[in-house]
Amino acid sequence: MSASRLLLLGPPGAGKGTQAAILIERLRVPQISTGDMLRDAVARKTEIGLKAQAVMERGDLVPDEIVIGIAEERLRQSDAERGFILDGFPRTLAQAEALDRLLEKLGRPLQKCIAISVDEDELVARLLKRAEIEGRSDDDEATIRNRMQVYREQTEPLVNHYRGQGIAHEVKGKGSVEDVEQRILEALGG
Ligand code: ADP
Repeated sequence: MSASRLLLLGPPGAGKGTQAAILIERLRVPQISTGDMLRDAVARKTEIGLKAQAVMERGDLVPDEIVIGIAEERLRQSDAERGFILDGFPRTLAQAEALDRLLEKLGRPLQKCIAISVDEDELVARLLKRAEIEGRSDDDEATIRNRMQVYREQTEPLVNHYRGQGIAHEVKGKGSVEDVEQRILEALGG
């Protein structure tokens, strides 16, 4: 398995974070999650956190320039030279294009995009369960439905963007964590 610059794409609740945590152990590269970084900024009440909080609570997208800025800063850190697992970024075409430009400038283009797909009813059920356990404020049903719609409209088209680059692999997110892990490893060719 030689690819070390990966993107996990998929709707909320598809299991990106879970699979990213497994992959970083195998590949020894950092996970880069804009959702985690934004939640951290909200918790610390930084300028970005204060701007992002209300948007996130509605399940809408934080403005591209903010997210591109934090992702770029993170990708420029030295531990990302060996590779990275992107999770939750990019989410719009403008973000994907900014990422392409940055990685080209750094001479480290993305190697694979793993697009995880799961039925919407299953996703909503998973997220409602996660809400009970973690108490995330954007995990109530109306907000979840909004996040799904935002995903379909703004993020799903990215699968085509990466198909165009010949690096998209579609993986079904049904079944156990191990089932999905196995499918991802197959897509990564190892
Ligand atoms: P999930 O994987 O459950 O959809 P994340 O933890 O990735 O959620 O993101 C939570 C929220 O953070 C999103 O609903 C959005 O408001 C904001 N966010 C995270 N990443 C981005 C991004 N790349 N662009 C815009 N907003 C983002």
